[in-house]
Amino acid sequence: MANNERRYVIIGASAAGMAAAEAIRQSDSTGFITVLSEEPVQPYFRPMIPFLISGKKSVADMTLVGQGPYSGTGIDVRLNSKAEAIDTKNQTVTVQGGDLVLYDRLLIATGSRPYIPPEIEGTEAAGVFALRTLTDALAAADCAAQADHVVMLGGGLLNLKAAFALLERGLDVTLVVYSPEVLSQLMEPDDAVLIRDALNKAGLKIMTDCSATHILSQAGGVNGVLLNSGQEMFCQMVCIGKGVFPNVNFLEQSDVQVDQGVVVDRFTACNAANVFAAGDVAVTFDPITSDRIVTGLWTNAVEMGRCAGYNMAGRTTEYTGTFGILNATQVADEPFVSMGIVHTSGTDYETHVFSTRNTYRKLVFSEDGERLVGAVFVGDISHAGLYRYVMREKMDVAKIKPFIIKHTLHYGHLLLP
Ligand SMILES: Cc1cc2nc3c(=O)[nH]c(=O)nc-3n(C[C@H](O)[C@H](O)[C@H](O)COP(=O)(O)OP(=O)(O)OC[C@H]3O[C@@H](n4cnc5c(N)ncnc54)[C@H](O)[C@@H]3O)c2cc1C
Repeated sequence: MANNERRYVIIGASAAGMAAAEAIRQSDSTGFITVLSEEPVQPYFRPMIPFLISGKKSVADMTLVGQGPYSGTGIDVRLNSKAEAIDTKNQTVTVQGGDLVLYDRLLIATGSRPYIPPEIEGTEAAGVFALRTLTDALAAADCAAQADHVVMLGGGLLNLKAAFALLERGLDVTLVVYSPEVLSQLMEPDDAVLIRDALNKAGLKIMTDCSATHILSQAGGVNGVLLNSGQEMFCQMVCIGKGVFPNVNFLEQSDVQVDQGVVVDRFTACNAANVFAAGDVAVTFDPITSDRIVTGLWTNAVEMGRCAGYNMAGRTTEYTGTFGILNATQVADEPFVSMGIVHTSGTDYETHVFSTRNTYRKLVFSEDGERLVGAVFVGDISHAGLYRYVMREKMDVAKIKPFIIKHTLHYGHLLLP
């Protein structure tokens, strides 16, 4: 079939789906591109949600189409169009309401949704949020306008960003963390000291080693949280940030292989012919550990989506994976980077730690000391891209190790014979 007759269907209009649509359009100027979105709004930049809540950004600031690489030209985005099932033999997608959409190439880019721990009772009460969509964020902002005290359940990055946004609005915010320290998936407790200090200074109350058992409510909505210690806290709003899981329910009756997320090969293709997957919903791999992983990063979803778009349009493109841990961001104005293998307690990885009053650096080398496999930088994140390159290329660091440890590495060192 000539490309100009091709029908490309993409389920999910976010980082991966829109990057794929643009890549297809670049490679095939005449094929039909249809993007099905269950959301009622045009595609937007999801990581800006905390700024919408703090009031620093508006809905208009968040729009994707017309910004950066997203031209939207010749891409038919259908809102309120939830895919309910796919039939890989007849190459169709059933959309809520019964419409059938035919495809020649299909991309699953349905992302993930928040995990709501079933052991916490009362999560359905008004005033309980798990921030994922623009609709959630607008409702949370409305609720915050009426609230004095918010309890956040979970010490992960998304919850910290949302907590900081709520602090900026002038609310009292308490973070309830099951682990001994915040950001436990991205670093070890000792690595997080400066971040913890910055959060404390910003006014966030943090309770570690505890969890919520009940969200308490009355007719008007949430009015408290009961902790496993028996302590009760009064609040008018609760945000749950306990991780996410991939949106794969609609694939239950299909033959697409799912193992936590949608399983793809190195070319983003699924086991079913002409079906691809990318972004948070897809299972990819970590080039350092070779582990199969699902990630939750906008940048990764864009990269993988673009790669899938090229493959769908016939430009064979290998996806080279991403680190299981890879974050470069800031919380409470404290910049940090965490990448590769960073949990080293009780292991034989060679670690080097250097800290000052304002900066912290942990470098992790393989057990034989020959490769850099992980790094945490807090405060000063300069040259992080260079370290990422050294890790990703699995370089033998024999000649450059002293520069890495002293933090004086530069590109010239990589050219040493
Ligand atoms: C509050 C918040 C802050 C974040 N901050 C950062 C950050 O600072 N840096 C970073 O790298 N990442 C951040 N992320 C993560 C990042 O947003 C995600 O990794 C990224 O959006 C994943 O893109 P995706 O296209 O794979 O999926 P998603 O963005 O989840 O989009 C999937 C889309 O598909 C839709 N969909 C699902 N099922 C169906 C269906 N059956 N039919 C039709 N449509 C469907 C969904 O409604 C959604 O619109 C943040 C996320 C949140 C929630």
